[in-house]
Amino acid sequence: MVKEQKQQWNGFSLRPRKEMPEGLWTRCPGCEHMLYKKAVEKNLNVCPQCNHHFRIKAADRIRYLVDEGSFQEILTDLATNDPLGFKFRQTTYKQRLKADEKKSGSKEAMRIGKAFIKGRGTVLAVMEPNFLMGSMGAVVGEKFCAAVDKAMSKALPLVAVCCSGGARMHEGVVSLAQMAKTSAALAKLDEAGGLFISVLTDPTTGGVTASFAMLGDVNIAEPGALIGFAGPRTIAETIKVELPEGFQTAEFLLEHGFIDMIIHRRDMRSEIARIIDYCQK
Ligand SMILES: [Zn+2]
Repeated sequence: MVKEQKQQWNGFSLRPRKEMPEGLWTRCPGCEHMLYKKAVEKNLNVCPQCNHHFRIKAADRIRYLVDEGSFQEILTDLATNDPLGFKFRQTTYKQRLKADEKKSGSKEAMRIGKAFIKGRGTVLAVMEPNFLMGSMGAVVGEKFCAAVDKAMSKALPLVAVCCSGGARMHEGVVSLAQMAKTSAALAKLDEAGGLFISVLTDPTTGGVTASFAMLGDVNIAEPGALIGFAGPRTIAETIKVELPEGFQTAEFLLEHGFIDMIIHRRDMRSEIARIIDYCQK
């Protein structure tokens, strides 16, 4: 008797999930090659075969970007107070926060602090994709604005590394308000003559794209990053046209003038240092 494989809804399609082997090996989502994890990690989490830039946690991002041991983090204990008492299906927002804190080692989806990049003093704001998909709630907004304030008061360039699923639905309108709040803070930085470099990584979407992520004096993306507001399917269904190939990729955005450059992860440090020097008065 043939056992029928039961198809289960996995959130995206009815196709069975491809099993990922745990441990030493990982499959590249770009070229489907099986890769030795340690070799990928040594290559800054970029596929040595096809250059696919893997999504990385904030701690790795900081390690790749700053001079060793120079990151001085602030506001590490800032945490949300669940303004709506939100619950989705059987999980409360508070339970989700606790689980993601354990997963990411961070109390929120953004880490901020001072650091040196190739000897240049900077204020850094790095998003954590392992914490509610780097979504922006009140704390992310508050931390970003604190980073802007710090950059202004110390006359340092601000570097943000964005990686986000957008505004955080668990905080409803409170999270949407962060779009205006972060944009207003950047307007003040701009008036004060400050420099803001925004690094867009895969994925940068929703309310984060529609606010601070795209407001850099220089907007840099990593190769292949998905950058957009609404998802392609939503757009296609709303405007009833077929979307062009490569829509919402970093390369498409560069070609259409939405970003300034695409930089490989291994060159990001040097490029940011170069921009800081170039923009210094
Ligand atoms: Zn690959």
